[in-house]
Amino acid sequence: MINIRLQFLKDEINKHNYNYYVNDNPTISDYEYDKLFAELKQIESEHPELITPDSPTQRVGSVSERFLPFTHTHRLYSLDNTYNYDDLKKWYEKITKEYGNDIELVCELKIDGLAIALTYENGVFIRGVTRGDGITGEEITQNLKTIKAIPLKLKDRVSLDVRGEIYMPKSSFEKLNAENLMNGDKLFANPRNAAAGSLRQLDSTITAKRDLSMFTYTLVAEGLDNPPKTHYESIMYMKEQGFKVNPNIKLCRNADEAIAYCKEWENKRFDLDYATDGVVIKVNKISVQEDLGFTSRAPKWATAFKFPPEEVTTVVENIELGVGKTGAITPVANFKPVQLAGSTVSRATLHNFDEIKRLDLRIGDTVLIKKAAEIIPKVIKVVETPNHESRSVYTPPENCPVCGHRLETFEGEVNLYCTNPDCAGQIRAKLEYWVSKDAMDIDSLGPSVIEQLYNKGMVRTPADLYKLTTDDFMKLDLVKEKSADNMFKAVQASKNRPLKRFITALNIKNIGKETADIIARAFGTLEKVQSATFDELKELNGIGELTAKEIEEFFKNPKNVTLLRELKSLGLEPEPAQQAASDIFKGKTFVLTGTLENMTRNEAGDIIKLHGGQTSSSVSKNTSYVLAGESAGSKLDKAISLGIQILTEKDFLEMISQEGKEVSNE
Ligand code: NAD
Repeated sequence: MINIRLQFLKDEINKHNYNYYVNDNPTISDYEYDKLFAELKQIESEHPELITPDSPTQRVGSVSERFLPFTHTHRLYSLDNTYNYDDLKKWYEKITKEYGNDIELVCELKIDGLAIALTYENGVFIRGVTRGDGITGEEITQNLKTIKAIPLKLKDRVSLDVRGEIYMPKSSFEKLNAENLMNGDKLFANPRNAAAGSLRQLDSTITAKRDLSMFTYTLVAEGLDNPPKTHYESIMYMKEQGFKVNPNIKLCRNADEAIAYCKEWENKRFDLDYATDGVVIKVNKISVQEDLGFTSRAPKWATAFKFPPEEVTTVVENIELGVGKTGAITPVANFKPVQLAGSTVSRATLHNFDEIKRLDLRIGDTVLIKKAAEIIPKVIKVVETPNHESRSVYTPPENCPVCGHRLETFEGEVNLYCTNPDCAGQIRAKLEYWVSKDAMDIDSLGPSVIEQLYNKGMVRTPADLYKLTTDDFMKLDLVKEKSADNMFKAVQASKNRPLKRFITALNIKNIGKETADIIARAFGTLEKVQSATFDELKELNGIGELTAKEIEEFFKNPKNVTLLRELKSLGLEPEPAQQAASDIFKGKTFVLTGTLENMTRNEAGDIIKLHGGQTSSSVSKNTSYVLAGESAGSKLDKAISLGIQILTEKDFLEMISQEGKEVSNE
């Protein structure tokens, strides 16, 4: 029995190694792969007599045959890994038992790319080789020479080898996939696959066009007269010689400090523009490293703590169709619930039917999913299985799933629409949107309450909500007097919401909360917005001619005029917006980070907008300023590395008090 399981695990792991290392096309998530690997290791540790030299636990990676093979002068290893802190503590205890309690550690981010060995002779880059199986790799010197983070010449005329990780920044990966989508080319599953695919191109001009970079993390110092005595010193030495090293490296005195580092980066890593899948913890002293040595595939002096999985596979059980507030039909994949990045997920939007076609997703397929923008589950691809072909190709619906009306398409749009204005699905979606957080924010009226209010014939338009009494709410299932009264009060309390919320809630085509805010600030009151002309609207920052026309038409439409009149007669009077105080921040984008002393970040954001500026949540080349408070995190680091002007709260307040004085980036 155990032999059968052992062989199964070996075959599975070998198959996945081939897909991952040779084809750059994994078909299961890293987490699932690691689970198979850990099981194999566990069986082998209980039955050492069953370990064979060809077991995946005895070797590292795989070599493809696209480039010429090159035998490494010094072997490249993998890393042992764990997903829990207890293992980390045990690993450290084992070392301290032998070497005493003051074993210093170095924590580094585990960059999710691919390992490369570089050789320099007399300070000149002469060769670069992929890790391959650790003994033999592929020589890809020409391609590596196109990567700017790899110095062609070092500061000193020294001979040495270094190892590091080639990666593609997340933003470049998104851009590359967007271009590939436009051109009908293959999409990469993640930045690591994109980096691997880009690096192992036979034509180095293609590699040169891809935005690749490299963090260097290991020095082979044999050829140096005075080799560094600690790992930390070797990192500093490499930096001095011109290599790019990761700035987030930290010296830790013990396992607890290393665990604190892992915890810190579990969330902070999402602010980085490169993918990290964990933390590598290494013994700092080289002499202790040498003493500890290696297993057949990994150093004993280092281990990797892996972050909870960001990608997992699951089975699509059905595709549900929803009708949105614009009448667009949205397909949603319902899948077998799985744990993903800290929560259980069971559904993901597929956006439109073109996406289903692009993925060639069929009900019953196994899919790889991840959390896009770290929160929303997204289907990345269908995992190739022999059963896929035998399943029926998905056919989009011809009629609205709610009202049965024939669906329509519009030129230049990928969606299918239900154009029946009386469609129950659409009316409910509009009402749900009206009460939603970004719109009128009536949180006691969730989708099930809206559904009941609709089904009982009590509400058809937003105005109907404001006619409801406490007694009306009590007619809903399981609603007692107290909660009915709360619902009534919540609806009434929304009558004077800020103008930007009211404009958002109106559900004008292409007007989300950001554009609604721009319109509200520009005109101040609802009356002025209603009478704004096409010319006035198209002058606004971020509003094109098409949107200006949509807004003008919306307010002229007799149905909307009636609704607005009715809302007014029911006492709805949006709070006027504060109009721009100045345009000193016009065209400037701010990123806010850390804790400010005199205001919250939201308040600072409002001040920026009041003076014509914009805010953004991530730092990029397009950021004008980073306003940094106490305990500012990785956004500040990134701003420094990009040379973006940093403002303290005092600088910021001075800028505002000197209103009118030129604000420049210089
Ligand atoms: P690994 O990625 O778990 O760890 C070793 C590698 O970490 C090194 O080779 C190096 O490339 C990298 N690394 C990044 N930052 C580093 C740093 N600061 N210091 C040292 N090394 C650093 O091991 P591996 O052998 O490259 O690959 C095994 C892993 O690959 C598995 O654990 C799994 O996550 C993934 N994998 C997945 C599949 C799949 O089908 N999904 C298949 C094979 C492998």
